[in-house]
Amino acid sequence: MVDASGTVVSVNTFGAAQLGYSVEELLGQSVLKVFPNAEHQAAQDNVAVCLNNIGRTHSWEICKVRKDGSTLWVRENAKAVRLLDGQPIVLIACEDITERKHAENALRQSEMYLAEAQRLSRTGSFGWCASSDEIIWSEETFRIFGFDKAPSMKRATVIQRIHPDDRARVLRTTKRALSEWKDFEHGYRLLMPDGSVKHVHVRAHAVKDRSSGIDFVGAVSDVTARKRAEAELHEAQMNLAHVTRVTALGELAASIAHEVSQPLAAVVTNAAACQRWLDRAPPDLTEARATLQAIIKDGNRAGDVIKRVRALANKGSEQKAPLDINEIVNEVVSLVQHELLRHCVLLRLEPAPALPLVLGDRIQLQQVVINLVINGIEAMATVTDRPRELIIRTGLDDAGHIVASVEDRGTGLATAEHAERLFDAFYSTKSGGMGMGLSICRSIVAAHGGRLSASQNAGPGATFQFTLPLHVEGSPP
Ligand code: ADP
Repeated sequence: MVDASGTVVSVNTFGAAQLGYSVEELLGQSVLKVFPNAEHQAAQDNVAVCLNNIGRTHSWEICKVRKDGSTLWVRENAKAVRLLDGQPIVLIACEDITERKHAENALRQSEMYLAEAQRLSRTGSFGWCASSDEIIWSEETFRIFGFDKAPSMKRATVIQRIHPDDRARVLRTTKRALSEWKDFEHGYRLLMPDGSVKHVHVRAHAVKDRSSGIDFVGAVSDVTARKRAEAELHEAQMNLAHVTRVTALGELAASIAHEVSQPLAAVVTNAAACQRWLDRAPPDLTEARATLQAIIKDGNRAGDVIKRVRALANKGSEQKAPLDINEIVNEVVSLVQHELLRHCVLLRLEPAPALPLVLGDRIQLQQVVINLVINGIEAMATVTDRPRELIIRTGLDDAGHIVASVEDRGTGLATAEHAERLFDAFYSTKSGGMGMGLSICRSIVAAHGGRLSASQNAGPGATFQFTLPLHVEGSPP
């Protein structure tokens, strides 16, 4: 019991003991004695509210401090009444809720961790109640689907967000899962209001105990970034496949020559025959016309062969753009990662920072670096007595050109003859080699206005390096 000035006028033994005091120690004292400083204002406000509304019960939760300094949370019910002399006093009943508060805090904290983990992993959770066709979502699921938070979502609303091309498939999967009461897993796209597309992957578990009203619980992951990376990888692989195809041209050259020489020989034979038909007296125009027809047919056949070869080699026209050589190197590194691992080759990258740009065709320059790296790896295939190390460097040379080099610890350029012939087309010392790689690389670099050269290292191995002129701002690509 507290008077209007906040002085304790009465307290029961239990109430005092709860705070570590005897009744005598509290009587006549300010009630603020049992509140921490931070709660003084709140305690005074609470008493004032009661005094302003005499006869009305109020309740609140507040923190108190014991005699020994420890704190406890309490829930207080209070009411101001008038004594016989007209003086108001406040009656307060106090219940210890410390344990509940701790549990609440722990729950809040674990919910916070869970939400944080969901945000980090871009994985939300959901519960699906089939009877009402409602879905309960976690915060992250709302974020992934791009809806404002709500206690639950109607499934029909959610389905509208699914990409129209995927909707029927999603409905089939969920319908089957529901009828068979089985876990399910599927991926689909979301069409967002701004027109962007997200990829999600969903796993759901059929709940055995359905007393909660929830039939399926699950997780939904936003896998858009992964899908994009997969698409980029696929494109890189396609480009690599193109490189391989171009390299394979060397092998094709022989069969092309064969295919073209056949119709050419036929053209010559038919032309000679035609001449003879015309030389007759009188000339046999019917036969001459027939042989001319055959000549046209063979000529077209040879033309078709050439067209096919051109289509094979020419993957669209080359596209020159300002490029960062370090970016090209990094892209190649991600492409050859598997080869490096497979051959136990350690790669060291020594890029010069902030290099000026070069003007070039990205795919062609990647092709050069890939070829040099693969050659370096192959040159170390027989090396067992030293680490297989490959070093890619970039920088500027004395003339201010960009220079990139690939250094290996392989067999090296043992003889002068070998060093001289490296860049010749069809020169190869490998059993399955075509000897086209370096000659193609050299012509690509030359077409960019640069130079590709090779040298023997002071130690074991060889270094291949190429230069490229800088891209001059404002010059046409
Ligand atoms: P291929 O790899 O099909 O043989 P290339 O034109 O790429 O065709 O290479 C021609 C030859 O140059 C190789 O067979 C090899 O003898 C030599 N060569 C290329 N790179 C290296 C290297 N890093 N170290 C030593 N020799 C090399």
